[in-house]
Amino acid sequence: MGLKGVIFDLDGTVVENDYDWPGIRRELGTGEMSILAYLDALVEPERSAKWAILEGHEARQTEASVLRQGFSGLLERLRARGLAVALVTNNSRKNAEYLLGKFGLAFDCVITRESGLWKPSGAPFLEVLRTLGLGPAEVGVVGDTRFDVLAALDAGIEAIYLLSNEPERFLGYPVKIVPSIEALARVICR
Ligand SMILES: [Mg+2]
Repeated sequence: MGLKGVIFDLDGTVVENDYDWPGIRRELGTGEMSILAYLDALVEPERSAKWAILEGHEARQTEASVLRQGFSGLLERLRARGLAVALVTNNSRKNAEYLLGKFGLAFDCVITRESGLWKPSGAPFLEVLRTLGLGPAEVGVVGDTRFDVLAALDAGIEAIYLLSNEPERFLGYPVKIVPSIEALARVICR
């Protein structure tokens, strides 16, 4: 399909963990807002207190994360084919760097929330495209949640792959659902 780059999500995509996002949202009281937008809009002292709650969950999940089976091999195959690889996460740079170091992964471009560019906005993906010098039709996005889909569509990216064992959750979205890295590799390394 002529892709020149692939942009990966981190949590739930490159690494597997067990975030209870509905529970965390209830604990923080985000309502319908995205967690980062909600926290960013708070004032002290509530702001620091609630950021600490999120960071506590993230620290535990980061420590418990395991690399998704086959991911290192996929990254090597993409690089061998000359594709650029990028990572876009709403997680922190500290946690992202910890996981990349722990699992020996390297990306051409890494965007974390410190950039101020967060999914579900397409802005972090547009920043990757600008950095890599690629257009939206030249890249694919690989993620595991609705935010990944919304961000990709917002950035005008149409090649969207979701790692999920629950395809019914994404009915009606213009995405390809794949159950594993192996299945993903069969689609994007054809
Ligand atoms: Mg994810």
